[in-house]
Amino acid sequence: MERVPINDTGLDIDDDRLVMRQVTDQIVIHHTGNPTDDDLSAAEINESHMRQGWSCIGYHYVIRKDGTVEAGRPHWTIGAHAYRENSHTIGIHVCGNFEIGEPTSEQIESLAMLLANLCTDYGLTIDRDHIVGHRELMSTACPGRNLFAQMDEIVGKANFYANQ
Ligand SMILES: [Zn+2]
Repeated sequence: MERVPINDTGLDIDDDRLVMRQVTDQIVIHHTGNPTDDDLSAAEINESHMRQGWSCIGYHYVIRKDGTVEAGRPHWTIGAHAYRENSHTIGIHVCGNFEIGEPTSEQIESLAMLLANLCTDYGLTIDRDHIVGHRELMSTACPGRNLFAQMDEIVGKANFYANQ
C-alpha cells in the first residue's frame, strides 16, 4: 500500500495537555467552511484554535488545496473536532468551503489515500460506518454538500488504495 506523505510543519503544540485516545473506530471528515473558501495551513488553524484557549489545533490532519497533507494534533491523541465524539475518532480537515466550492482532485486523492492508510493502521473496515462526515454526528453543514456528495466515491477510492 502506498502511503500519502505527511508534511510535519513543526506546529507549536503543548504535548503535556494532550491525552492518549484509547479507542479509534471512526474517522470524521471536515471542511473549513469560511465564506471565502480559504486554504488555511495547519499552522494557521493551530494559531486560531490556540487563541480560543485550546492546547493546539483540534484536527489530526489538514489537506490543502494542492493535496498536501499536513500533520495536526498527533494522531494518537484525543482531538477537538467533533462534539462528544472526540474520544474515539480521528479528525481530518479538508481546506475549503464545500457548500460553495468543490474539493480539488488532489484533495480527493490525498484524502482517499490517507483514509486507506489510517484504516489499515487502526484495523478499521473501509466503509461508510467507519468514515463519516461531521454532519452525520451533529447538526452542521460540515464538510459541505459538495464534499459530502462524494463520500461514497472517496471511500471507494480508499479501498482501491488499500488493496494496491
Ligand atoms: Zn466539521
